[in-house]
Amino acid sequence: MNTLQGKVAIVTGGGTGIGAAISKCLAENGVKVVINYNTSSLAAQGVVSSIIENGGEAIAVQADVSKSEDATKVIDAAIEKYGKLDILVNNAGITRDRSFKKLTEEDWRKVIDVNLNSVYNTTAPALNYLVNSDAGRIINISSIIGQTGAFGQANYSAAKAGMIGFTKSLALELAKTGVTVNAICPGFIETCMISEVPENIREQIQAKIPQKRFGHAEEIASGVLYLCKDGAYITGQQLNINGGLFM
Ligand code: NAD
Repeated sequence: MNTLQGKVAIVTGGGTGIGAAISKCLAENGVKVVINYNTSSLAAQGVVSSIIENGGEAIAVQADVSKSEDATKVIDAAIEKYGKLDILVNNAGITRDRSFKKLTEEDWRKVIDVNLNSVYNTTAPALNYLVNSDAGRIINISSIIGQTGAFGQANYSAAKAGMIGFTKSLALELAKTGVTVNAICPGFIETCMISEVPENIREQIQAKIPQKRFGHAEEIASGVLYLCKDGAYITGQQLNINGGLFM
């Protein structure tokens, strides 16, 4: 029996990269997916079309999840369309990399707003619906950088580490309800985010990865699927999908 058949998920930033792979993977497993996007309308519509062509169900919802009123719109759209919510994947994220000396207050606030405050903004209005699910799941896409820190990423690292702390606290608070809360910490994954890194730096990073390659977005999606399908007794954890880069 497919335990995910008919479940409803929201994936923030689900139109591109890791979010698109998660959306497609959940849909292939019978989940109805609400794909949130901010500016990537074409990409999000493309993911919806590909899911529907493959016999799945999905809608795209525009919202800037760094703004609480906007984030609430995504949860409202899921309830209006599908009547319930089982899975929330907080995936939307940005980088604004600069050494701390050059980092502006705007760089700091923007990255904290999009990567961390968005998690509050979506989780708060989603909570009661997830508690009412028979298998509620919150999955926060954090990062290896939240675990190790990185030069030029004080803002991003703080936001991603914040997601991990949030994950553990909420996991404790929700444990009795059956809702599990976990973080996935990807290493370096081949998406637009990584293609922005200069070639020479990419080569240096790759040389340090024990498996000597970047990960694929689908490998993060497999982690999400595992937590959704078989993760009833896994909560408050960090699932490290990083080719051995951080153990
Ligand atoms: P990506 O740029 O393709 O995905 C980020 C998505 O978030 C995009 O679709 C973007 O439009 C969306 N987004 C940005 N701001 C938003 C907002 N305010 N509201 C709604 N959506 C917004 O890059 P990706 O690599 O797929 O990143 C996905 C997540 O994985 C991010 O949280 C990122 O920090 C994390 N991550 C990525 C890597 C990597 O190596 N690629 C490693 C660790 C963690």
